[in-house]
Amino acid sequence: MSENKNKFFSQTIISWYHQNKRDLPWRDTQNPYKIWLSEIILQQTRVVQGMPYYEKFIENFPTVQQLAAADEQTVLRFWQGLGYYSRARNLHAAAKYISNDLNGIFPKTYSEIKKLKGVGDYTAAAISSFAFDEVQAVVDGNVYRVLSRFFGIEKDITETKNQKEFRELAQNLIDATQPAIYNQAIMEFGALQCVPKSPNCQVCPLQKKCTAFEKKLIEKLPIKGKKTKVTDRFMHYFVFKKREGNKEKVLLRKRGEGDIWQGLYDFFLIEFQHKDKKGFEPLKELEQYLEIENTKLTHESIIFKHQLSHRTLYAKFYTLEIMSNEKQFLYWQTLKAKYDLEEIEWQNLDKIPKPVLISKYLDYLEQHLF
Ligand code: SF4
Repeated sequence: MSENKNKFFSQTIISWYHQNKRDLPWRDTQNPYKIWLSEIILQQTRVVQGMPYYEKFIENFPTVQQLAAADEQTVLRFWQGLGYYSRARNLHAAAKYISNDLNGIFPKTYSEIKKLKGVGDYTAAAISSFAFDEVQAVVDGNVYRVLSRFFGIEKDITETKNQKEFRELAQNLIDATQPAIYNQAIMEFGALQCVPKSPNCQVCPLQKKCTAFEKKLIEKLPIKGKKTKVTDRFMHYFVFKKREGNKEKVLLRKRGEGDIWQGLYDFFLIEFQHKDKKGFEPLKELEQYLEIENTKLTHESIIFKHQLSHRTLYAKFYTLEIMSNEKQFLYWQTLKAKYDLEEIEWQNLDKIPKPVLISKYLDYLEQHLF
């Protein structure tokens, strides 16, 4: 790459940034805790969606020590709706590590920051440059797109050896006198100007030296290799309920380790990888699993469709009322023990962390049944 082209690139995006940057709360600070929080929230999440979460976290946990002192359920509940819950668990684990092992002092260098759970190259570069002015170039999806288009790099960005090349190029381009501004500029440029679909190249200040523009490669770049196949899952949830005086109780399951919903609560589930045949009989199916009889099916929900990154979930919920006779009471106890279910009062459901899919179902019930 020519020196001139590199210089033109860095200077142009910095001046573009000064005129076009959005006013975002985490840009007004050099506090590493706030920057870290915003970066973790914004991984896989758009700014408009992430902003209220950032504000809620800062309001409830203004310091890393306060985040560390919270229990995991509370952290997950605040995270609810953002998805990729391992981010929240890692955030919490790293806050505890900083609070307990580092005396509450946020690490100050790229390599120390990278030791935090859930922090990779990109996040460590963002925090160390924004908070401590370390010359570490960020490379995220926006950066791959801008660099591959402007320099016309026709290499698959999902391959490790190519990612290394991109990182080296980014490190060559960074303005060492103002690394934080340069990094913010290239990310903002990718988010607002050189956008994935149909960027408006007519108003782009990089256009005269942009290889993708010149060679009509804009739609082709960046090259992303094979797309991951999205699979369908068909989920039948059984909501076991019983009445005790004027209280209604329900059985929930805490999702275990290694699960995408680890630490969140849902109901007893029978799941299929294939579309179930017509005439699926929930009670019969349940009998096979649980050897349970004489249970009253009190409600069948609509089918909820929920999109995850690599899966489309179709979920239906069946409410089963467990009667207060002795036999049914025994079923309740057996269910709890056999499937490790927890008994929770219906009115306390909003206090526990749960996947968005479960919240959608509860909202639907509220609108249609209560
Ligand atoms: S000219 Fe178009 S493709 Fe090239 S950097 Fe600008 S917006 Fe991106």
